[in-house]
Amino acid sequence: MHSQPPGPTAAKELFSLRGKRALVTGSGQGIGLTLARGLGAAGAELVLNDLDPARLEQAVATLRGEGLVVTGRRFDVAKAEEVGPAFVELERTVGPLDILVNNAGIHRRAPLETMPAASWQAVLDVNLTSAFLVTRAVASGMIERGGGKIINICSLNSELSRPTIANYAAAKGGLKMLTRAMAVEWGRHNLQANGIAPGYIRTDMTGGLVVDPEFDRYIRARTPAGRWGEPRELVGAAVFLASRASDFVNGQILYVDGGLLASQ
Ligand code: NAP
Repeated sequence: MHSQPPGPTAAKELFSLRGKRALVTGSGQGIGLTLARGLGAAGAELVLNDLDPARLEQAVATLRGEGLVVTGRRFDVAKAEEVGPAFVELERTVGPLDILVNNAGIHRRAPLETMPAASWQAVLDVNLTSAFLVTRAVASGMIERGGGKIINICSLNSELSRPTIANYAAAKGGLKMLTRAMAVEWGRHNLQANGIAPGYIRTDMTGGLVVDPEFDRYIRARTPAGRWGEPRELVGAAVFLASRASDFVNGQILYVDGGLLASQ
């Protein structure tokens, strides 16, 4: 596929995900659900994942109602003992994956000097170790089948930190380097691993910050776009990184942040 000469391929075909199957972790709500919807609209069959079975069921029903082909699998992406069996069952009953989006994530904010070890560990487990566990479960199959697409949902905090998020910044910084490690190790197998690093996006995760007038003012002033982002504004990057259009793009982190990282 990567040796095709350039030709007058229609842009629509270049970005089409028809015939591809995509798993998005943590896709019961928020960015994950919106990215799944976007990949589905580009033609992919979807597998949703979440911790909360009711939320997962609701998300599956919603996307099916929109005409997409969707199944759901509840498992904890941070637990090796759940991820392994989930993938054996998934590949047997649904089929192999072409696209994996490692999206599940959590925040546990606390000043670093008093941060509970459990908060440190939980954030590292869900935001970083999960990407290792889930990608490890799919990579061998992708290699055998001649390629695949991994998209890791990083963050502005892969580059920048601020008080109370040391655990999150360490995890997202690690995820950036894990993305590069995947690209380096699997590039010769036609497997592309890239990251999307959202800026400040309005979701449940940031709900408490959006309604905090001081923080809201700070974000609007700090972001060249002068506003928060919406989950749907990440879809273009995800479709690009999941499609043939990015077959020679590997190990990159695409910051979708309204220009924040470029600003002093
Ligand atoms: P969200 O609304 O809190 O959604 C996160 C989803 O992940 C939830 O549905 C949650 O399920 C699920 N999840 C959490 N732990 C899980 C686990 N162990 N196994 C499976 N699923 C799990 O957050 P979001 O804002 O959409 O964030 C999505 C991703 O984008 C995260 O990686 C986040 O770090 C990243 N991000 C967000 C922003 C932002 O501004 N929102 C910025 C940069 C990066 P339950 O609620 O059922 O537990």
